[in-house]
Amino acid sequence: MKNGDVAEMLERAARILALRGENRYRVRAYRRAARAIAAEYRDIEILFRQNKLQTLDGVGAGLAAKIKEILHTGQLSLVERLESGVLPEAGDSIILLASALTLCTELIPELEEIAGVSSVSPTGEVRRCRETVERIELVMAVNDMSHAREALARARRLHNQRFEGNLCLAVHSFGLPLSLYLVSEDDYVRTMWLTTGSEKHVSEVSALVRGNTGGNLVYQNGKKHAISSEADIYRLAGLPFIEPELREGRGESAAGLSGELPVLIEAGDYKGDLHVHTDWSDGMASIEKMAEAAVELGYEYMAVTDHSRSLKIAKGLSLDRLAEQVKLIRKVQEKFPTLTILTGIEADILDDGTVDAPDEVLAGLDVVIASIHSGFRQSSEKLTGRICRAMQNPHVMIVAHATGRLLGKRNAYAVDMDEVIRCAANTGTALEINSSPDRLDINDLMAGQARTAGVPVSINTDAHSRLELANVALGITVARRGWLGSGDVINTLGLDALHTFLKRKKAGA
Ligand SMILES: [Zn+2]
Ligand SMILES: [Zn+2]
Repeated sequence: MKNGDVAEMLERAARILALRGENRYRVRAYRRAARAIAAEYRDIEILFRQNKLQTLDGVGAGLAAKIKEILHTGQLSLVERLESGVLPEAGDSIILLASALTLCTELIPELEEIAGVSSVSPTGEVRRCRETVERIELVMAVNDMSHAREALARARRLHNQRFEGNLCLAVHSFGLPLSLYLVSEDDYVRTMWLTTGSEKHVSEVSALVRGNTGGNLVYQNGKKHAISSEADIYRLAGLPFIEPELREGRGESAAGLSGELPVLIEAGDYKGDLHVHTDWSDGMASIEKMAEAAVELGYEYMAVTDHSRSLKIAKGLSLDRLAEQVKLIRKVQEKFPTLTILTGIEADILDDGTVDAPDEVLAGLDVVIASIHSGFRQSSEKLTGRICRAMQNPHVMIVAHATGRLLGKRNAYAVDMDEVIRCAANTGTALEINSSPDRLDINDLMAGQARTAGVPVSINTDAHSRLELANVALGITVARRGWLGSGDVINTLGLDALHTFLKRKKAGA
């Protein structure tokens, strides 16, 4: 077995444990070991034979035994057990968008294998990319209904199945509730549109259709007006196509009528990540490995922004280490002709609102991010004051994860975001959409507020491993839900324009 196979199996275990709402330290332990093995250049089989598994980052006796099991049997009985096994306690733990999307990626190909099923798509809150969802909803186009229902009843991982008409309610082995809408191919588009919602959006658009056509056509299977795509439904309403992320009843129909719907940012507009950690602080991979991953993603640039000196628990860099790192980046740069590796720092905002590095040091870095990692229980006045003071610093270009929330674990701290957005606008500082699955901070509404206030937004992953760079997709959904176009996001700038932006504040322009 190759390192990647073992890492994949452990990552799969981590994912299933996470989906089942298991203890997050356990989840993290598996994930950490997976990442260490994936990043390890020595052959895992050889490490095993030399009895050196425990030299790997995060691998203790327990995980070493699991790795041994994988090497011996090619499997992990834990995964087998979880996948077929008993349901976890029905918790009221929230479902992160990332978990929902992961499950969809696994489940949809399985459902599409079922005889009589022609296609399956996510709908509802998942399709609208809400940051957390109540259940996973899928529309299944079916050409043989009774066949499909029988096959579904036999599906190994779909428990507690119950039909309401052609809606199948079930619980997946991972403990996630599912709604499966089984519809004929003729009714697929209409059902997709209705179940995508939101209710408010559907009722607004339906009213427009009624006004224009004098009938309730959307609900009547489009007999008079053929509906072959969602765009047809919007056309009947006199609207341009409205992206699923916008369908929240937050003024999108009115904006559509007046021609003011924004053109949303897309993944292809994104040119580079400006908040990335390496093994110089608490990241898992070297600068070079992270740069390789960035090249694979087709990026023009990537900023290395490890933690600053006072963040001891995250191995924050002393000023000497930081200077060393900058030197190394210049050297590593020579190996990457297509990627610009920007130097940087994620500087702690200290208790008094100053930033954790002297100005002359900050002045020499390409990207300076400031963020709060302490004093979460302070008053709104104090916290807001700290962030706003940090933004006064002409070297601070981006404020990261401004509210500090961790979805399902920790509420946002008492920061006054109206005030933060005002300060960001006044000082020309960008606010980050942090793409970590449990952060998504700032959220969609705040991102929209920033856009309206003319505050530049930066979508970053805060990746601590190569795999986490891919989380940018989540950050982009937040931006889209906040009505952001590519012009609102600095990571869509080409390198020259980005440099101009990053220097703008220092120059006092
Ligand atoms: Zn941070
Ligand atoms: Zn960070």
